[in-house]
Amino acid sequence: QKFKAGLAKTRDSFTSKVNDLVARYRKVDEDFFEELEDLLLQADVGIETVMELMDKLRFEVQRKNMKDTNGIQAIISEKLVEIYERGEEDLIDLNMQPKGELTVILFVGVNGVGKTTTIGKLAHRFKQEGRSVMLAAGDTFRAGAIDQLQVWGDRVGAEVVKQSEGSDPAAVMFDAIQAAKKRGVDVLICDTAGRLQNKVNLMNELEKVKRVISREIPDAPHEVLLALDATTGQNALVQAKIFKEATDVSGIVLTKLDGTAKGGIVLAIRQQLNIPVKFVGLGEQMDDLQPFDAERYVYGLFA
Ligand code: GDP
Repeated sequence: QKFKAGLAKTRDSFTSKVNDLVARYRKVDEDFFEELEDLLLQADVGIETVMELMDKLRFEVQRKNMKDTNGIQAIISEKLVEIYERGEEDLIDLNMQPKGELTVILFVGVNGVGKTTTIGKLAHRFKQEGRSVMLAAGDTFRAGAIDQLQVWGDRVGAEVVKQSEGSDPAAVMFDAIQAAKKRGVDVLICDTAGRLQNKVNLMNELEKVKRVISREIPDAPHEVLLALDATTGQNALVQAKIFKEATDVSGIVLTKLDGTAKGGIVLAIRQQLNIPVKFVGLGEQMDDLQPFDAERYVYGLFA
């Protein structure tokens, strides 16, 4: 239900345009394909995906010897799901972690994309599953970032390990890991500063933070999640490329999907970066974070 509601904007524009198109064209011909291609590109689905989808559609239309546009929406959905049901999407399975081992999740991303909110939502999710969660205020650069994380910590009931603004993020991580181990916490979620102005600085800071973490727990961080704002469209792709070069990103959280009519960006990100989208943000509330599921997503667009 949440998923469906969160996609309302994309559905209202994209799906209704596809339906219009289908109603206007009786026959599936080249003009139809061309217009459909344009619609998909407008929804930010991404050129590679669109091309792959078009090939599949043409093949299917021929194979089924389709004379008219009846039922073409179902085939579009089916083929999109086919394209996106590759690869593992899930977040690290905490049940598979050695008993008593602390799981560390590192968050990266530019300011304003919804990183802090996502950390809060994910902490809430883990808490609801009965896990204990601690937060590390590793964004010591942006004024207010530490307080904002504390607000989320209070809201979801997770202790926040922090130092003063301007302190060394790696030192915060070290403290947080010690505290988390001492208290037997299940999951530690770490915030980081998202400065993109200087790629070398960004890379160095992330490397240092990761080094401190893995010195304490060899397999950690178990996930490095990049938060991207869906409403920024192609700009999100540019950010993702920079972060991908700066560090090993294990998954993407695409925020504010509810705020855009171009929800096709999910598909473009997956295909162009080859990094799985693990969660999508569908609102500002605690429980507005959903695991990304290609099937539910695509059928959510057309249902
Ligand atoms: P940060 O600077 O990256 O930590 O960003 P914040 O977490 O402070 O979020 C920036 C703004 O985006 C806040 O007003 C959030 O409420 C809002 N926001 C975050 N995630 C979502 C989402 O999934 N949907 C919507 N509609 N708003 C969101």
